[in-house]
Amino acid sequence: VIRLTQLAIVALAAAAALFPMPADEVERLYSRGIYPRVQTLVTPLTNQLPFALLDVLLIGAGGALLAVIGGACLSAWRTRRFRPLGAGIANVVVLAAAGYLAFLVLWGLNYRRVPLSDRIAQEASAVSEERVLQLGLRAAAALNRLHEPAHATGWAGEASRNRELVAGLAAVQRALGDPREAEPGRLKPTLLGPYFRGSGVDGMINPFGLEVLANPDLLPFERPFVAAHEWAHLAGYADEAEASFVGWLACLSADAPAQYSGWLFLYWQVSGTLAASARTQLTDALAEGPRDDLRAIVERMRRSEWPALRRAGRAVYDQYLKANRVDEGIRSYDRVVTLILRTEFADGWTPVRREITP
Ligand SMILES: [Zn+2]
Repeated sequence: VIRLTQLAIVALAAAAALFPMPADEVERLYSRGIYPRVQTLVTPLTNQLPFALLDVLLIGAGGALLAVIGGACLSAWRTRRFRPLGAGIANVVVLAAAGYLAFLVLWGLNYRRVPLSDRIAQEASAVSEERVLQLGLRAAAALNRLHEPAHATGWAGEASRNRELVAGLAAVQRALGDPREAEPGRLKPTLLGPYFRGSGVDGMINPFGLEVLANPDLLPFERPFVAAHEWAHLAGYADEAEASFVGWLACLSADAPAQYSGWLFLYWQVSGTLAASARTQLTDALAEGPRDDLRAIVERMRRSEWPALRRAGRAVYDQYLKANRVDEGIRSYDRVVTLILRTEFADGWTPVRREITP
């Protein structure tokens, strides 16, 4: 019976990897069906834990792997046979398959849902460099205007306790037609902190515990956007550009400090996609205050980053995205600018939903 169960787990994982469900089925049954219920159940529980569940899981998985491989090697040595090694490898395969299935069921299937760009009204026209620059200038103007009130209020307190930011996310989810408001996760420190620091990762969610893990060095004005971006992941927006889109909109409908954080992100993103001459125009539009804050972010990254680790980290994440059928890999980060520019907004920044005719 155990053999059969093990075979079934491996077969199921292989089937899930090789024959994905159609996107509209995933959307209906999972992303708008089971997943939101699971999320609103699991995140409040992991929020209660004083540590990151992912740390425990990583240590546990590492220990299990060592025990299985070590045990197999030991008994191969004792019996002078290769058979125990084969059994050990088979056990590792079963463990990996079970982990992959758990990943898909708890969060990962969200990679296979209907893209957000199919659910909201989008212009078909290509995005010109001129429009990207205009968006950047808009971000610069917002930063100049918000710098003083944002700094006056400050960023004290945990982001998940910021009622306005939480309400902002709920408002965006309502506008996008989500069936249930996501439960925000608090930004937890993790044993992976040094890795985040060295590889330049701002944060991530733990797909097995639906909790948010953050880079310990984030500056106060970076935290609201990072929180909102990760909450968008928790809300089922697995795609990076979509998570940034949702997170940015959530910041925009919150208080001045969160708005400032959202615009800071967008300014950074736009600036990175512009050619040098347009970028100069953008930098010139920025007042001294926001410029200092951006300089502080660059300084933070320069201080803690380990370029080789950053490259390795990016390569691993790129492979991970491709394994989850995100073909652009890590470049999908830049798509958020396109997504914002193509989306039709009503009164302020409310995305217009597309009427779906069955
Ligand atoms: Zn993300």
